[in-house]
Amino acid sequence: MEKTRKIKNKLIMMQINKITEVSQSIVNGNRRSLAQAITLIESTLQNDRILANKLLEHLLPHTGQSIRIGITGSPGVGKSTFIEAFGLKLINSGYRVAVLAIDPSSPATGGSILGDKTRMEELSKNDHAFIRPSPARGELGGIAARTRETILVCESAGFDIILIETVGVGQSEISVSRLCDIFALILAPSGGDDLQGIKKGIVELSDLIIVNKADGPLLPIAKTTASDYASAIKLVRPKHRELQTKIFTCSALEKEGIEAIQKFIVDFYNMAEASGKFKKRRETQLKSWIWDEVNKSLIQRLYSKKRTKILITKLENEVQNGETSPMEAAKKILNSLTP
Ligand code: GDP
Repeated sequence: MEKTRKIKNKLIMMQINKITEVSQSIVNGNRRSLAQAITLIESTLQNDRILANKLLEHLLPHTGQSIRIGITGSPGVGKSTFIEAFGLKLINSGYRVAVLAIDPSSPATGGSILGDKTRMEELSKNDHAFIRPSPARGELGGIAARTRETILVCESAGFDIILIETVGVGQSEISVSRLCDIFALILAPSGGDDLQGIKKGIVELSDLIIVNKADGPLLPIAKTTASDYASAIKLVRPKHRELQTKIFTCSALEKEGIEAIQKFIVDFYNMAEASGKFKKRRETQLKSWIWDEVNKSLIQRLYSKKRTKILITKLENEVQNGETSPMEAAKKILNSLTP
């Protein structure tokens, strides 16, 4: 037993030594190393976690320089078409762009929403772009932790703009919006008064709302949708005291209206940078990182002991049956951490 442990530790040590090499290679822009690093980050194996944390330590000094843009919208609104057009436009303006697509595929939903078609064909072939779908399976620690780490690795590889795509179907938007500098909601033109984003509370997270498919017969409907949202957001608590959420119409298919969106984002970034808002935001993000790690480690530690797992199930049942209070159950679960 002792011997196996020693061999295991030696192996980890050897891999840790290699991490310096890998991190240098990432900083030098090696895409293979970048992809490998993300795979390592996504792994839930304990040894991989140790290596991933080491790697992040090496990369941290090279991070924090990008503009992180969250993009959300229901399936079919044209997110991938938009990201392709927008990404290529950004590359033409001299930026390097990474796209992280958070795919909410899970055993519960029975399949992938994002991965079932060829997406962003032109962008994926471009040397200045890096596209990475990231499964958001409902694992302990959630998407926030891994997305954050993936963003950092991409930043250290020299990407100036990171687009983080989610499908607007759940909790992931809130986590992602906390990691981003700017958050955009994409909508399709819709007749009538169904203001989906407002119902879901996503509008409150958004710095800009983009009504896509403003072309052909959909153009007048897109304009109506945009003005409906312009009226509706007046009733929503503004995200920034000094800045109202801005509404755009565009056609990702015909590459119309993309430039105005790029200008808004760059201006927004420069303004927030100049006012020190981004610096403050990065500081807050780093602080919440600590607490995300504490939460994640606590939960992992709780579930790593068979005895505690049994206790948790027992207490959950007792709470459901009214035999124990939730406070008492929580106290007992936390107490089980101390030997
Ligand atoms: P996603 O599921 O949100 O990523 O949506 P896609 O980008 O895959 O687009 C869904 C459908 O809408 C596809 O058939 C696209 O060709 C179409 N589409 C996307 N953008 C536009 C647009 O600007 N105008 C029109 N007319 N169709 C679009």
